[in-house]
Amino acid sequence: MRQALRPSALVPRGFVVDGTSSDGPGLVIAVRPVSRTSKCPGCGTNSERVHSRYCRRLADLPLAGRPVRLVVVARRFHCDAVLCGRRIFVERFDLDVLAPWARRTARLDHIVHHLGLALGGRPAASFARRLMLPVSNDTLLRVVRRHGSPRFVPPTVVGIDDWVATQPALRDDRVRSRAAQDNRVAAGSRTRNGTGLALRPAANQGRRA
Ligand SMILES: [Zn+2]
Repeated sequence: MRQALRPSALVPRGFVVDGTSSDGPGLVIAVRPVSRTSKCPGCGTNSERVHSRYCRRLADLPLAGRPVRLVVVARRFHCDAVLCGRRIFVERFDLDVLAPWARRTARLDHIVHHLGLALGGRPAASFARRLMLPVSNDTLLRVVRRHGSPRFVPPTVVGIDDWVATQPALRDDRVRSRAAQDNRVAAGSRTRNGTGLALRPAANQGRRA
């Protein structure tokens, strides 16, 4: 029977699974990069001469209701380009997979960002806990600030009231016409009861009651 779901299909693109273990309620997945080489950020030369290895611990999307922590065995490479100032560099991954110095994968960061935008700090943190996403409210706000707000799209259709509000002359006319209308209503009330005491406009009388 063919294996329908490979473990490497569950982790971010460009990594293969070396092993898994349990860490209390969570899962720990050890992964390593597929690529044998990495590009020097200083000069762009590909290098496959490994200097050393180290572990990066990252939060990732939950799996089957359990929080997941990835342990990435990352590498440092030698740069052999003669004119390059860097002799050793840390390997970089695609930005849509894992940013340099990031503490969570890009796909988790994307969800955290949108949670923060939709719900704000504390409500989003509470909802994230239910989704098994290990983020605090401060982290959510930090992620939203780092990504910035969504691009503002200028409106193509404006309602007449919105337009009038931007025109001082028309806005004043509208206020004057409303005051004149209120005065007419007040005058009508005085005429009806004959006392001359109903000086308040009819619209305000309803609010007072
Ligand atoms: Zn270089």
